[in-house]
Amino acid sequence: MGTYAAKISEIIQEAPQVKLIRLSFQELKSFKFLPGQFVMIGHSELKGETGLPVQRAFSVASAPSQKDYLELCVKIVEGGKFSKICRGLKKNDTVEVKGPFGKFHLPQDHKNDYAFFAGGTGVAPLMSMLHELKKDRFPVKVVLFFTFREPQDYLYKKELEEMNTTYSNFTLVTTCTSKQPAGWEGMKGRFTVDEIKKFIQDPNKRMHYICGNNDFVSSIKSYLAALEVSQENIHTEAWG
Ligand SMILES: Cc1cc2nc3c(=O)[nH]c(=O)nc-3n(C[C@H](O)[C@H](O)[C@H](O)COP(=O)(O)OP(=O)(O)OC[C@H]3O[C@@H](n4cnc5c(N)ncnc54)[C@H](O)[C@@H]3O)c2cc1C
Repeated sequence: MGTYAAKISEIIQEAPQVKLIRLSFQELKSFKFLPGQFVMIGHSELKGETGLPVQRAFSVASAPSQKDYLELCVKIVEGGKFSKICRGLKKNDTVEVKGPFGKFHLPQDHKNDYAFFAGGTGVAPLMSMLHELKKDRFPVKVVLFFTFREPQDYLYKKELEEMNTTYSNFTLVTTCTSKQPAGWEGMKGRFTVDEIKKFIQDPNKRMHYICGNNDFVSSIKSYLAALEVSQENIHTEAWG
C-alpha cells in the first residue's frame, strides 16, 4: 500500500451524473492491485467536520494491466463533499491516491465460471475484472447482470456491447428499471430469480460478485440464497 500524488489526465462525462476520471502518477507502472480493489482519494479541499483531511473510496475501473492511467467511475451525489469538488475537477488537477485496498477481487487464477451483478456505478470494479478476463479472451464463462434506471445511465455501453458480440464466453444482460426508449431490447424492471436462472443454469458452481447500493446487494444475495448458492461463493461490495 502506498500514497501517490496523481494528476488527472482525462475526464469523460459518461452519464449525466457520472464522470470517468483517469489518473496518472509516476509510480503507476509498478502500482499493483487486483481487479475489483479500490483506492482512497484525497483532495486539498476535502476536509471533515473538524477540518482535518478526509478521503473517499473509489473502485478502480481500469484493469491492472492498463499502465497508462487508473480509471475511476465517480457518481456525483447531491450534497456530497467530494461530489462538490468533483464537479469542478479538470485535467491536470492533482489528487492523492492511497491504496490498493479491499477483498472484493478476482482470484489469481480462474477455476470457476463467474456471475457478476452490477447496480449503477457498482459496475466499476466489475469493469476492471472484465478487462482483465478480456486480456485472456475470457478463459471462463462470465454473465454480467447490469441494472440502471434510464438509458442515459447505461455506463460503458459501447465497451460492454462490443465484448458481448466478440467473446462467446461473455454474456451481457441489461435491465433499465425506470424509462426505456423505443426499441429497447434489454429487460425492463428489476432482476428476478427466474430471470437469473434463465442465464445461469449452474448457479452453485459459479463465483458470484455483486456490487451496487445496499438494497441491490441484499436483494441479489437473497435471490442467490433462493438458488442455493453457498455463502463462500458470493463476494459483495456495497455503497450508498
Ligand atoms: C469500497 C468502496 C468503493 C466505492 N467505489 C465507488 C465508485 O467506484 N464510484 C462511486 O461513485 N462511489 C464509490 N463509493 C462511494 C464513495 O466513496 C463516496 O461515498 C461517494 O462518492 C459520496 O461521497 P461524497 O463525499 O460526495 O458524499 P458525502 O459527503 O460522503 O455524502 C454522502 C451522502 O450523504 C449526505 N450527507 C452528507 N452529510 C450529511 C448529513 N450531515 N446529514 C444527512 N445527509 C448527509 C449527502 O447529501 C450525500 O447524499 C465507494 C465506497 C466504498 C466504501
